[in-house]
Amino acid sequence: MEAMIALGGNPNCGKSTLFNALTGARQHVGNYPGVTVEKKQGHYRLNGHNFTLVDLPGIYSLSAYSVEEVVARDFLFKEKPRLVINIVDAANLERNLYLTLQFMEMGMPVCVALNMMDVARQRNILIDVPKLSSLLGVPVVETVARNGLGKETLMTAVAGMIDNGPASMTALNISYGPEVDALLDEITPLIAEKHFLTDCYPARWVALKYVENDAQIIDLGRAADADLSQRFKGQVARLSAHLQKTLQSLPEEIIADYRYGYIRSLLAKGVIRYGGERSRLFISDQIDRVVVHRFLGPLIMLAVLLGLYHFTFSYSKWPVAWMESFFGWIGALAEAHMPAGPLKSLIISGVVQGVGGVLGFVPLIMFMFFGIAILEDSGYLARVAFMLDRVFRVFGLHGNSVMAFIVSGGIAGGCAVPGILATRTLKSPRERLATLLTVPFMNCGAKLPVFALLVGAFFSKYQALVMFGLTLVAWAGALLVAKLLRLTVIRGESTPFVMELPPYRFPTLKGLLIHTWERTWQYVRKAGTIILGISILLWAAMSYPGLPAERMAAFEDQRQAIAVANPAGGDATAGAKERLAALNAAQAEAALRNSLAGRLGTSLEGLSQWAGFDWRTNIALIGGFAAKEVIVSTLGTAYSLGAVDPAESGSLADVLAHSALWRPLTALSLIVFVMFYSPCFVSIVCIVRESGSHKWGLFSMAFNTALAFMLAVGVFQVGRLLGF
Ligand code: GDP
Ligand code: MG
Repeated sequence: MEAMIALGGNPNCGKSTLFNALTGARQHVGNYPGVTVEKKQGHYRLNGHNFTLVDLPGIYSLSAYSVEEVVARDFLFKEKPRLVINIVDAANLERNLYLTLQFMEMGMPVCVALNMMDVARQRNILIDVPKLSSLLGVPVVETVARNGLGKETLMTAVAGMIDNGPASMTALNISYGPEVDALLDEITPLIAEKHFLTDCYPARWVALKYVENDAQIIDLGRAADADLSQRFKGQVARLSAHLQKTLQSLPEEIIADYRYGYIRSLLAKGVIRYGGERSRLFISDQIDRVVVHRFLGPLIMLAVLLGLYHFTFSYSKWPVAWMESFFGWIGALAEAHMPAGPLKSLIISGVVQGVGGVLGFVPLIMFMFFGIAILEDSGYLARVAFMLDRVFRVFGLHGNSVMAFIVSGGIAGGCAVPGILATRTLKSPRERLATLLTVPFMNCGAKLPVFALLVGAFFSKYQALVMFGLTLVAWAGALLVAKLLRLTVIRGESTPFVMELPPYRFPTLKGLLIHTWERTWQYVRKAGTIILGISILLWAAMSYPGLPAERMAAFEDQRQAIAVANPAGGDATAGAKERLAALNAAQAEAALRNSLAGRLGTSLEGLSQWAGFDWRTNIALIGGFAAKEVIVSTLGTAYSLGAVDPAESGSLADVLAHSALWRPLTALSLIVFVMFYSPCFVSIVCIVRESGSHKWGLFSMAFNTALAFMLAVGVFQVGRLLGF
């Protein structure tokens, strides 16, 4: 039998872990509230049943305050799954049952997975499971999602509910106090009689949502029957005024109070007992006394992040070098065995350089992601967000912005695209806009190779330290721009922030590997698809339209002249060989200059020289508009063409370090420009989609590029004055 089952629960209750344990999927599991914004699907088979499991976003409630809540709610009503597996954190039973209650209020058949039983036991929280089940009137199964304990029992219970239970459950009716109940009793029959929204929602639930002042339902109601909706709103407004006068509370607060009251009374009936000494601080709380301490906390944070940089950059050095020589070897192979011509040039300069340039940094990305996975899975990243929240408020952002920044590369090596999507957890549209416009300033995985290259070439002694400094610069830039935006184009109030700190946990090796692999794979896949395409386009733009015939002829004449001067019958002298190589290089450079990209780069040189960029750098930066990954490989191609003997000149870092055009100041200016200029094409598309307007996409392209240019010119000119 086919059946669709939804998995619902609070953020961080282990939902994704259970989903993965059941379906074998490798879904992102994060010890951070709000990681799952989109829902995912998987399958589970059990004697004759074929369940489609859908992982809903983590939510605390079914109100319409956040996108996640609306997504979850719409799914339940519109897709009508057979039942909800409600994952409940046994260590935080009271708060988690708040959602359970709301599933039951909407009439969803519920099966409770009482997860984190290991944690509850550790904390001496004793739960009488059969009693809880009978008081709630739904099956309750103990699980430890982390090691798959109880998942078969859970699914057997689910199958039992589907085989034996009714298709739908009558909605749970609880009392919300005399005043609210009276109004509900008055309007529910009317709703049923007029079929007001009842094709989708139960009548009493619609009434309840009106009393709770639920924006989504009220909008739908207005569209369905404006008069009736207006009438209900009037009645609710009167009740609201009355409750505020008598109880100093809004109806939605009263409803929440009664729900909690219901849960507390249920738990007090012997469901929950605390063994041992109850007032003992949990280990997490003890750790947090130090880790999020007002003064020690930030110091520890800096030390941890600096440690991460050391780990990443010192240990990835060797594998990165291996990869480099591997792709060098492939290039040499093509060089030696392919006949000269455009195909050879495409393979070497387009494919091997372009894709190899990106893949070469895979080890670095992997090390970085592994380190970040440790921070995330242990629960430390949530503390980072917690501490940074204090800073964020000052700049007109929100604590929930922190995760978006971190995902985008706030620690280094993320991607702005998921970062922009992660802003969905922000409720205030203004804070959300300010966040999504500034997350592209973070040092994403595509900018990282550019920085690593330049820092390696010019500041190699202090690599980890400089990279860490660059991270701080990116944050400072993002926060200052956010403040600027919040003071000008997106002015508005700040909203309060509540975030619970998840308990510390030992990361599992499996979790860490999944995390690292997942993100590394994204990077690799992009190299094989988007980057390959862009590399080929760039190669074409850098190769065509070639040199005009008369200039080709001029080079040919010179070549002849060298041959005539050395009539040794092919056995040219060393001096002639050198002159020939120089001639070839000059021809290659002339051809590049004359190409489409070369002309564009040259025409911008008048402007870009203020920041210290020559025409070759300009070509790379233009390519970077499409994807920042191609900057390094394009620089490589542009500079190897001009070199006297590419085989002897060594890696791109060496070429730059020894080039007369480059000095540390040029590198610094380029780093600043790359850090702040226009987001890549895919990010722009995301910004347009998430902000709902083309305006913001164009804004971030123009504004960021102008800002980056100003900063780069500033760095370069001031540096020059100071004599660097
Ligand atoms: P979600 O936000 O509900 O999807 O939660 P996740 O599945 O991402 O899990 C959050 C954290 O809790 C992860 O670090 C998991 O490894 C951990 N976790 C999940 N289930 C259990 C459990 O039963 N026991 C323990 N100790 N940890 C768990
Ligand atoms: Mg999740």
